[in-house]
Amino acid sequence: MTRHVIVGGGPAATNAVQTIRQYDAQSEIVLLSDEPAHSRMALPYWIANQISQDRILTANDTMWRELKVDAQIGARVRAIHPTKMSVETEDGKQHSYDRLLIATGSRPNSLSIPGIDGKNVQPCWSIRHVESLLDSLRDKPQPRVVMIGAGFIGFIVLNAMYKRGWSLTVIEREKHVLPRMLNAASASMVKQWLTQRNVAVHCGVSVQSIADTSDGSKLVSMSSGEKITADLVIVAIGVRPNIELAVPAGIATQEGILVDSRMQTSIPNVYAAGDVTQGPVLHSDLRQVHAIQPTAVDQGRIAGANMAGQAVSYPGSLLMNVLDVCGLQCVSYGSWDEAQSTSLESRNEMPPNYRNVVLDADRIVGAIFVGQANDVGMLTDAGMIKGFLQTGTSLGPWLDYLRANPFDLRRPYIATGVPEKLRKLTLLGAPSQTPAYRQSNPQDVQRGRPHLATYQAMQQQ
Ligand SMILES: Cc1cc2nc3c(=O)[nH]c(=O)nc-3n(C[C@H](O)[C@H](O)[C@H](O)COP(=O)(O)OP(=O)(O)OC[C@H]3O[C@@H](n4cnc5c(N)ncnc54)[C@H](O)[C@@H]3O)c2cc1C
Repeated sequence: MTRHVIVGGGPAATNAVQTIRQYDAQSEIVLLSDEPAHSRMALPYWIANQISQDRILTANDTMWRELKVDAQIGARVRAIHPTKMSVETEDGKQHSYDRLLIATGSRPNSLSIPGIDGKNVQPCWSIRHVESLLDSLRDKPQPRVVMIGAGFIGFIVLNAMYKRGWSLTVIEREKHVLPRMLNAASASMVKQWLTQRNVAVHCGVSVQSIADTSDGSKLVSMSSGEKITADLVIVAIGVRPNIELAVPAGIATQEGILVDSRMQTSIPNVYAAGDVTQGPVLHSDLRQVHAIQPTAVDQGRIAGANMAGQAVSYPGSLLMNVLDVCGLQCVSYGSWDEAQSTSLESRNEMPPNYRNVVLDADRIVGAIFVGQANDVGMLTDAGMIKGFLQTGTSLGPWLDYLRANPFDLRRPYIATGVPEKLRKLTLLGAPSQTPAYRQSNPQDVQRGRPHLATYQAMQQQ
């Protein structure tokens, strides 16, 4: 009987497990994860007090039992031995595998400045980070938070804190906010939007040190000479793949673990999926790290299918970021900053609305949209752009029409047949199945608690 070992408990791992079971009811599956299976994407809702901690879980004992998975939550893998086809956990146990999936995700980068290891200075990436964040601000009626880094994750966390009415400051080293998601024109709209909502934004300056004050606050010093007092400093300056198991095992890596279109690594029977990979990019020969949830889910499903003996190829991931910045929606897709490309740009200052559709000949290769949450037209148009990108559809004669009518995407979208093409696009050649774990069932949430309790006990040791 085939024995699958999965390292990790994030969306890449859980989707792989469920997909293996879709094809193979018998094989053995062992899941080793140092955290309970959960969705990091749900952490901001917990910070915003919109959900309780339990609601971040994506699996529970019942689900593992039904899927016949030996889920060892709290088990951390310390080495992979490809020649022995086994992995070793920190308690010294060996776990043999026929097929191995590395789904270890990524971790936040740090800064090398005085005070970075001090109290109330932390990233916001894991359950533990959110626990400590909420704990440190518990008694503060109006917490003051400084966010170092104005990137995608930083702004997701900032948005959650904004919902709680906290006092917020953002410091970004680059010239404008969201430098890997927006161009200067759209970013200036975001900065203005934030300033109007009393969120202080400092761009083009770096943090030089973080000191403690006599009343227990933090003093953040910037290269501009300004100083800001805060209760908490969040460091959100990007993430990097957790490749430290792969490198000594001889698995090929660059920025991430290199995988082919079947999610196979350079070593037979060893697969990788999610943030940890450097994988195929849609309509391109490149291999890139796309540390986003949709990529983790799709790669997990492709890896699971191939581990279960199917021959399924991944078309590649589309870089996409969709973000709510305190009520201003920001969307960027694909190659939105191609220097060589032409683009259709339009903007309106009030209410703020920005669009830039990037073209390579008559194909859309990327886009930026910024507009208010209640602008339904903007949101549906952003969805149509995604359809063009996913299907790689040429605009043909509709290019001139779009140039003349940049706000009417609907006609080219229908006329070029994007909806029909999308309807036929399925990742595994069949409709996807409902996830085994449904957060809508309160009993499931209740039954999920033992994993959280195990993890919390582990943290206290
Ligand atoms: C606050 C926040 C908000 C986010 N919001 C969004 C969003 O809105 N949209 C979006 O697309 N993405 C978002 N992301 C990013 C998204 O969560 C990640 O892309 C996704 O979690 C990647 O899934 P993964 O399974 O590859 O890795 P992870 O979810 O990181 O899971 C990997 C798991 O493996 C475990 N692990 C690692 N090493 C070992 C080891 N040696 N032994 C055992 N276990 C190990 C880790 O502890 C972790 O539990 C957000 C992330 C954060 C932190």
